[in-house]
Amino acid sequence: MKCFLMLLMLLPGLLTAASDDAAFAVAREKMIREQILERGITDSRILGAFRRVPRHLFVAPSYRGQAYGDFPLPIEEGQTISQPYIVAIMTAVIAPSDNKKVLEIGTGSGYQAAVMAELVREVYTIEIIPALADHSKKLLQQLGYKNIHFRTGDGHVGWPEAAPFDGIIVTCSPDHIPAPLLEQLAVGGRMVIPIRYSHTVQDLLLVEKLPNGKLKKTNLISVLFVPMIRSHAR
Ligand code: SAH
Repeated sequence: MKCFLMLLMLLPGLLTAASDDAAFAVAREKMIREQILERGITDSRILGAFRRVPRHLFVAPSYRGQAYGDFPLPIEEGQTISQPYIVAIMTAVIAPSDNKKVLEIGTGSGYQAAVMAELVREVYTIEIIPALADHSKKLLQQLGYKNIHFRTGDGHVGWPEAAPFDGIIVTCSPDHIPAPLLEQLAVGGRMVIPIRYSHTVQDLLLVEKLPNGKLKKTNLISVLFVPMIRSHAR
């Protein structure tokens, strides 16, 4: 009897949680269809990764209702979680596959790391702001990701002990490609990086290290990421 009463008391909460989850799943499907698939990213593995990652958990509770919108959102410390379409482009450009190892610079909310971790063998991610690094590490571990490695520090130096990387994804904007990141890119590897020319002009570049070791750069689209800062600037 006591148990039954307790269940009755808990039921409204459980039902709200279940209907919230269902509503978020509907919003997520709409995001995948309208913002990703219909804009040309059709790889079913990539779409599946977006389906499995609960984006609303990567934003503050007060922004959850907007988590699946077609825009970036603020996270802690004045930083942002990228727009879903930009995450999709950056993910697709890396050409993720099961056997690859990818380095991310700028963990932020952890969302891009989670999407990538669904698609490759190992993700190494570096965040310069300790509070963000701690928060996203905790969340990604709670969500059960075992193939993401975390480091708090300045991504300009990369992660030499874990190099070379098949993919490098830079989610903050430097004014040039940091040399250590180029060195740590495997031959045949792909880097995606938003290079800033001024406060408002940035190009998302794909940098491929060709089998002969030469670099091939392709300009993808204009973007607006937060600046890549240096540890001594803080
Ligand atoms: N990938 C993130 C986007 C975060 S915004 C996501 O999916 O949410 C970019 C992040 O880069 C910010 O959290 C910022 O603190 C971080 N950042 C800026 N300069 C950095 C640097 N030099 N090294 C590592 N992280 C940096």
